Amino acid sequence: MTCKKCEEAVQPQRIKRPDDLSRAILAAANAIELGILSYEGAGAWGDPFQSIARGDGWGDFVNNYFSCLSCGQWFNLQAETYHGSGGAFEPVREPAEQIQRDVYPT
Ligand SMILES: [Zn+2]
Repeated sequence: MTCKKCEEAVQPQRIKRPDDLSRAILAAANAIELGILSYEGAGAWGDPFQSIARGDGWGDFVNNYFSCLSCGQWFNLQAETYHGSGGAFEPVREPAEQIQRDVYPT
């Protein structure tokens, strides 16, 4: 279940082009800054969100998890950038995979 806050912050979206990914990264960083989402860590192959959001660019895979501080809904920002097959920023169940609890300083 999502709530108004995270729905507005995330606006679940498909990622098809690098532009889309930049926008999704910005949306996630903004949502953290506004205290709507909490950063939970990087999933398999994903770089720490801190280095991505800082503008260092991204690797072949983007895979980061967030949760809503109001309703607890998890969100996954993931994209496969190497082949450009895209990805999404969308609500998910809790991650099935092990996530690295790297920290995003706020
Ligand atoms: Zn929420």
